[in-house]
Amino acid sequence: MIERRGIGIFPGVVIGHAAVFRHTILDNVEHALTDDPEAELAVFENAVESVMQEIRAIKPRSKEEKDILGVYESMLSDPDYLALIKENIGARRYTASWAVEAATEKYSSALAALGDAYFKERIADIKDAESRLLGAIAGISSEIIVDKPSIIVADYLTPSELIQMNRANILALLLDTGGPTSHVAILSHSEEIPAILGLGDFSRNTEDDSIVAMDAREGVAVICPDEKVLRSFRAKKGIALRNEKELRENAVLPAETLDGHRIHLMCNIEGLEGIDGAISAGAEGIGLFRTEFLALQDFGGDEEKKAGIYEEAARKMSPFGPVTFRTYDLGGDKAADGMAAEENPILGWRAVRFCMERKDIFRKQLISILRASALSPSVRIMFPMISGSEELKDVLSFLEEVKDECRKKGIAFDENMKIGTMIETPSAAITADVLADYVDFMSIGTNDLIQYTIAVDRGNERIAYLYRPLHPAVIRLLKYVADSAKKKGVTVSICGEMAGQAEYAPLLVGLGFDELSMTAHSILEVRKRIRTLDWESCVDFADNVLSLRDASSIEHALKEYNGKT
Ligand code: PEP
Ligand code: MG
Repeated sequence: MIERRGIGIFPGVVIGHAAVFRHTILDNVEHALTDDPEAELAVFENAVESVMQEIRAIKPRSKEEKDILGVYESMLSDPDYLALIKENIGARRYTASWAVEAATEKYSSALAALGDAYFKERIADIKDAESRLLGAIAGISSEIIVDKPSIIVADYLTPSELIQMNRANILALLLDTGGPTSHVAILSHSEEIPAILGLGDFSRNTEDDSIVAMDAREGVAVICPDEKVLRSFRAKKGIALRNEKELRENAVLPAETLDGHRIHLMCNIEGLEGIDGAISAGAEGIGLFRTEFLALQDFGGDEEKKAGIYEEAARKMSPFGPVTFRTYDLGGDKAADGMAAEENPILGWRAVRFCMERKDIFRKQLISILRASALSPSVRIMFPMISGSEELKDVLSFLEEVKDECRKKGIAFDENMKIGTMIETPSAAITADVLADYVDFMSIGTNDLIQYTIAVDRGNERIAYLYRPLHPAVIRLLKYVADSAKKKGVTVSICGEMAGQAEYAPLLVGLGFDELSMTAHSILEVRKRIRTLDWESCVDFADNVLSLRDASSIEHALKEYNGKT
């Protein structure tokens, strides 16, 4: 019996037979020279052709899958990448596999040097395209056959490998590597597959078909559990199933504290396919539609298509609550094609800074959102990364300009569409009382607010220990924004990850937040927690927290409070 701990991604307790996949053959490319570059070139070209055919034959099951396949196709038709491989074979006389490995390495290193999370994810995709090519060169099919219900145990799994598997037979995923922002993690969330990543040497210790037990919420997996451990996992599984059933059944109940204080739970989505999950979780609206994900798939592309998506989202969601379109938060870790690499992209040309310079792109998006607003009074617009009132006023006056254009052209829109600003920078938080004068609502992006307040890159694992949502500086800013919004009569919410973690609910509710936006599954969990809270007590608790001097004290106090209530 061997136990390992990793990072739980999508929760679930699963006991089942392991299907083990390791990529060792493809990861050990022999560095040999060839006497016959012509023949190696032919091998390489056939491999590209067969991988392309393989990829085109896959029917994507979701938007995420479609995006990933698109990245492979563009990689395998990238003229620079292909030319480099051919040069490695023709001029340097590398074998086809070595030529592919060397070219991919060069590409990935160039992206790694840019050092941000978005590019790190692209590297995983490039590596995936590479392993498919190496497999085709070696005559190995990259399709992993899962012919009976199994827990997939692997050293790593590329998104395309996961996409190709028979989903009905995947009970869970246990991977040696990977983190919460990897594409496999994103897919495990969107497909609701229980998963633990970063398990170290787990796959090396697991035999095919052996019994494995896992609890993704705790991030623990056991190979060949003994009868006692199995019993404990069966008990946990029973509890987890009952909890999940209860969470789903409670989706119709209001998120209301024991003393009758109502909290509104909304959903964060990246595209139209998130709407159904939001509705079934009982979301009271979309608090954050990250529109830039649509732009990243099709940058500068068909605006009509995007307008159609906004309209469809508004139409589907309007019976339940508002749909908040955040304008393009491009740049930073979400650079689109053609955006030049910057020395310091997180503090650089991003979000409204980019949009106000590329007004051609911004104008089209604003028109699309305005058009959607004509269909439903539920449409709201929100601007990301606002750093102060002047920037906000500039953006608002551009919105007015675009509204005028619409009026002149007879494009209908809702004249009363609600306008909001995100609070993601310390400067915006500290001047929230001023910003409140210009908007109808404010939404705090704690992911960025924490990163900028503590000066700690949210994507850098090395300094992750400093990324403390409960740092007193963050809590004081949250309090200040909540109070400022209330004084000025504007709605205030939180849409960063902090809002979706049930353990923070007593503090956020106590600080005065009545609206929180999060992923669909988090809505179920946060609702449950809110229904056990006493609002008056949360307010007292938050008051007490505001007097604490460091993150550890606040973490400790919250743990204690959660233990008691
Ligand atoms: C945030 O910063 O908290 C936020 C919601 O925006 P994003 O995570 O997309 O940067
Ligand atoms: Mg943000």
